[in-house]
Amino acid sequence: MNEPTFATRITRWYEQNARDLPWRVPGVGAWPILVSEVMLQQTPVVRVLPAWHAWLRRWPTPAALAADTPAEAIRMWGRLGYPRRAVRLRDCAVAIVQRHGGEVPEKLDQLLALPGVGTYTARAVAAFAYGQRHPVVDTNVRRVVSRAIAGQPDAGPTTRPSDLVACEELLPVEPAAAALASAAFMELGALVCTARSPRCPACPVESVCAWRASGRAAPAGPTRRPQRYAGTDRQVRGLLLGVLRDATGPVPHQRLDQVWHDDVQRSRALAGLVTDGLVEPVGEDAFRLIGDGPTAHPAR
Ligand code: SF4
Repeated sequence: MNEPTFATRITRWYEQNARDLPWRVPGVGAWPILVSEVMLQQTPVVRVLPAWHAWLRRWPTPAALAADTPAEAIRMWGRLGYPRRAVRLRDCAVAIVQRHGGEVPEKLDQLLALPGVGTYTARAVAAFAYGQRHPVVDTNVRRVVSRAIAGQPDAGPTTRPSDLVACEELLPVEPAAAALASAAFMELGALVCTARSPRCPACPVESVCAWRASGRAAPAGPTRRPQRYAGTDRQVRGLLLGVLRDATGPVPHQRLDQVWHDDVQRSRALAGLVTDGLVEPVGEDAFRLIGDGPTAHPAR
């Protein structure tokens, strides 16, 4: 009897061990899947879950979000972090309405042309929403493939074309099976083949893993220190944005001055929010969330 393939082993494991997540429910739709993929890029599942439900209750379709202001998207994004994603997701909704009649497109090139949709997100939507065969390669997948196939303790910092090729070679030929295998690779990297403490005895590919066979028990090299947040510009930006999110109109400069003691750092953080298209000046001496008022950017 033939040995099960790498993808078959991991898919079987996935069918028994996958987390029960609402965006994986069959027939959930491409828009909820796209929203989940954008939210999950830099935010853990546990924090995404309530935000995802709230977002889709308010904006169940791209057209609903496109008709609202970017300011409201930033408000709903709340404290998920990296709030430019909220504005880009609204830009994406506007483009879906304008170019595709409000339906998330199926073709990879059309997905890739949407604002804020990159290599990973486009393939994730094509695979998970439309059952297509594409290599869906995030950090978790790169780590699994790097260890199990290449025998290396970790992948490089960014996805390279060769990572897509390596992953595609592992996928089953049949599109639906390939899409399931892609989800399974990601889940294995998230739950078992983790960056710091891979649980090899619980892994479905332990017997064929090149890195395990090489006798390596732990990743080589220094472990990455968690990023500092306290005292950084990111913290100051978060404080400023918090005040602007809670406000119902323009916020005077003096009110923003109260959120952080260091004038230079506060000014730099505020300028960064403006440059990033999250905040806009109102008159000489006030600020508001982008498009938060009568001059809101129209969806069309
Ligand atoms: S055996 Fe260990 S290192 Fe290899 S893929 Fe599984 S968890 Fe990762």
